[in-house]
Amino acid sequence: MPTIPITVAHGDGIGPEIMEATLHILKEAGAKLAIERIEIGEKVYLSGNTSGIDPSAWDSLRSTRVFLKAPITTPQGGGYKSLNVTVRKTLGLYANVRPCVAYHPFVETRHPGMDLVIVRENEEDLYAGIEYRQTDQVMQCLKIISRPGSERIVRYAFEYARRHNRKKVTCFTKDNIMKFTDGLFHKIFNEIAAEYPDIENEHWIVDIGAAKMADTPEAFDVIVMPNLYGDILSDVAAQIAGSVGLAGSANIGENVSMFEAIHGSAPRRAGQNLANPSGLLLGAIMMLVHIGQTATAERVHNAWLSTIEDGVHTYDIFDEGVSKKKVGTKEFAQAVVERLGKKPHTLKTVTYNQGDIAEVYGETIVKERSDTKKELVGVDVFVDWLKGSPDDLGHALAKVAPEGLQLVMVSNRGVKVWPGGKSETFCSDQWRCRFMSNDKGAVISHKQIIEVLGKVEAAGFDFIKIENLCNFDGERGYSLDQGE
Ligand code: NAD
Repeated sequence: MPTIPITVAHGDGIGPEIMEATLHILKEAGAKLAIERIEIGEKVYLSGNTSGIDPSAWDSLRSTRVFLKAPITTPQGGGYKSLNVTVRKTLGLYANVRPCVAYHPFVETRHPGMDLVIVRENEEDLYAGIEYRQTDQVMQCLKIISRPGSERIVRYAFEYARRHNRKKVTCFTKDNIMKFTDGLFHKIFNEIAAEYPDIENEHWIVDIGAAKMADTPEAFDVIVMPNLYGDILSDVAAQIAGSVGLAGSANIGENVSMFEAIHGSAPRRAGQNLANPSGLLLGAIMMLVHIGQTATAERVHNAWLSTIEDGVHTYDIFDEGVSKKKVGTKEFAQAVVERLGKKPHTLKTVTYNQGDIAEVYGETIVKERSDTKKELVGVDVFVDWLKGSPDDLGHALAKVAPEGLQLVMVSNRGVKVWPGGKSETFCSDQWRCRFMSNDKGAVISHKQIIEVLGKVEAAGFDFIKIENLCNFDGERGYSLDQGE
């Protein structure tokens, strides 16, 4: 078995203790790792580096391509960027994989049969981080869902299911409301599901899906979701399985992958030999599978299950009636080491195969290519205005439309308010004014848009952004407003 170089960051708070415990177990289990240590987190932030990672650390990550990371503390106050988001986006870690398993009857849970894996899209959605203050009253965050991004994550979920002998992949979206963004994710889910006839598939609207998952998690196997829903629901799933302290996660990319616990640095517990190293250890086990050291992964995982089964528990999962011995971080790690080679009796023994990790890099089937016929049919001009009624604005802007174009609609927060708005509709200071051809549905030019903007500005309005309205192969590429 070759020795694999990995990059390790000890992090902040309880990070160093749980990392030492994890590395001790891996070493005793015979993992063949050449460790490069890097500095990330609080110290780096407070030294004036707002990204929390030293520039030289990227060289190590690029060369080892495997990152075992302890949690870090993001200092309070503005200006500090989330290191996790930076690392995920910079290194293209597109898939976040979080197994959420119940360890009944040894760890208290209301869902004894729970064993599901959440595959969360990790780079796009509202986490693209594109936000604006547009007016005095209105902030905006752009939700970006791309075809290649969705294909990669959905395919990853199906490959993961196939390789881990999982029977079903469920997709959660809110495409009854967000027909373009979540609608694309759902559509791609259906396309890719058809390529995996051996795996059952289903789609739930995220709100009722989340309720079902919190109530009957046993009904799910693998769930794939856009970023925001996945972020929230994977914490819910980990917590109802037993504890967020027991879940590990993998962040998979084409070039680099990162493995960690899902919890944070729990600063109040730091330096007291109290923290449970299990989340990080389970992340490290995913790392061993990823680098092909599956026999070691199996040994460590089964020893850990035996430890949990023997009632050797840290304070966070200690339960008088069930636990046998309350231990600290170091003692827990030693208990796992002592059980290397053992298998659990009640909990299911884990087996890993060489082909368990789903590496599906680059296998995207981008269908909507540049040969799609794109036609510009209008423009939405957003203006910052707080001087009168929707009718005042509609009448004023109707007059500025250049030849060939007309103002067809004004909306506020997605509701049509002109022409024919309702007096009850609340209006903010951000208005969307839609200009289209006089000849219904006809193509317009970029030059006409520039003319519109010139006239809007000349009439004394503050335009804050525009969105072009396009049809793609004759299909409308923009939403209609409520009431339009
Ligand atoms: P947290 O997950 O650190 O802790 C919440 C509580 O859960 C703790 O007070 C503790 O009681 C318990 N807990 C968590 N992990 C435990 C463990 N391994 N063993 C025993 N008990 C455990 O969440 P928080 O308090 O909201 O955040 C603390 C810091 O961690 C913040 O600075 C936050 O930004 C950071 N954070 C980092 C990551 C990461 O690096 N991946 C993730 C989340 C939060």
